[in-house]
Amino acid sequence: MKKLRVFPHRDRPLALLLKERLAAEGIVCLVRNDELSTALGEIPFVECSPELWVVDDEVYPRARLLLDQWLTAAEEVAADWTCPDCGEQIEGQFEVCWKCGKEIISDER
Ligand SMILES: [Zn+2]
Repeated sequence: MKKLRVFPHRDRPLALLLKERLAAEGIVCLVRNDELSTALGEIPFVECSPELWVVDDEVYPRARLLLDQWLTAAEEVAADWTCPDCGEQIEGQFEVCWKCGKEIISDER
């Protein structure tokens, strides 16, 4: 078994989603430090970050690649925003509209 990625505690649903997606690709994964261990109260909170593990070492490089692609794609999709003032489509790495100079707060995206 190889550890693929450690997620912040709040990203537990993401860890589970990625486990499902990897399973659909034929890659068997486990999520460790799941909510059950938190509920037992024996592990300090900071150690409860969910960890995604690949069961079969041989498919680890492929799992790694898929995961990177998905996470990059997810960031790009979430990033684009439309300027509320002039309607210009802005790429996510910018926080100011290049057309009218309007600054965006991430909550408004
Ligand atoms: Zn604008």
